[in-house]
Amino acid sequence: MGFEKFGRKSFTAITKTAKFVDLLTEGKIEGTVCKDCGAKFFPPRADCAKCFSKNMDWFEMPKKGKLETFTTAYYAPLGFEADPPYTMGVVDFGSGLKLFARVAKEIKPEEVKVGMDVSTRPLKYDDGQLSFEVIKA
Ligand SMILES: [Zn+2]
Repeated sequence: MGFEKFGRKSFTAITKTAKFVDLLTEGKIEGTVCKDCGAKFFPPRADCAKCFSKNMDWFEMPKKGKLETFTTAYYAPLGFEADPPYTMGVVDFGSGLKLFARVAKEIKPEEVKVGMDVSTRPLKYDDGQLSFEVIKA
């Protein structure tokens, strides 16, 4: 599967980390880890930004994190007009590992709090596009 299946609107069809989308279809949200220095990246990187190695592997993101910050959008850019309101947040898993995603619609904006325990799950939109979202832990 190509990377064009990722995200609400995808502008990139080819990337060295396209396996990310295949993993999403298997229900896995994975980042990459450098086999040489151990640095972990999310979104996944094809090459290590710390030691510049190309010797990378995949790892499954942790299941539990804390919501570091969030914002709710009441207006959306072209292509996303039907989506607002929606909340986006940054999940901190510790050790510098973070993830940015939309917060699941089932969590009302007024329920979202900085520091709350959260998890993530893969998401498939009605049009077949794939992504991932923040859910309650
Ligand atoms: Zn490295």
